[in-house]
Amino acid sequence: MSAFEKYEAMVLSCIDPRFQDLVHKENAKKGLTNKYSAFTIAGASIGVVAPTFKKWHQTFWENLDISVQLHNIKKVIVINHRDCGGAVAAYGQEKFANKEAETETHKSALIEFKKQLKIKHPELEAELYLMDLDGSVISFN
Ligand SMILES: [Zn+2]
Repeated sequence: MSAFEKYEAMVLSCIDPRFQDLVHKENAKKGLTNKYSAFTIAGASIGVVAPTFKKWHQTFWENLDISVQLHNIKKVIVINHRDCGGAVAAYGQEKFANKEAETETHKSALIEFKKQLKIKHPELEAELYLMDLDGSVISFN
């Protein structure tokens, strides 16, 4: 057994300070404490797929390659969040005019992320979530 077989996932989440502890708690609930590698970037999946942040995309995918090699991960857990400044910077305020629009915008970016992941790493599963300010999550799996 490799030293890294116990690692299970990469968690992709946003840089927003309000969500660091909430994301950690959500992963702890899944039994993932000390079992995931973290990649934190403005907008979470939006930082990886939005044209506004084009310069960041390759960095994420190369970092994921390394995580696969080093940590034997099986999946990428993506946690976007509501009231995200990075998301607004990428797509404009009108895409977040109300809660339904916000949900749809995040859902599109999460599904686009999953699509790109399937091309680059078909062996990896994706779990897609949108987290609220109280830590509750909705799933797009
Ligand atoms: Zn954010």
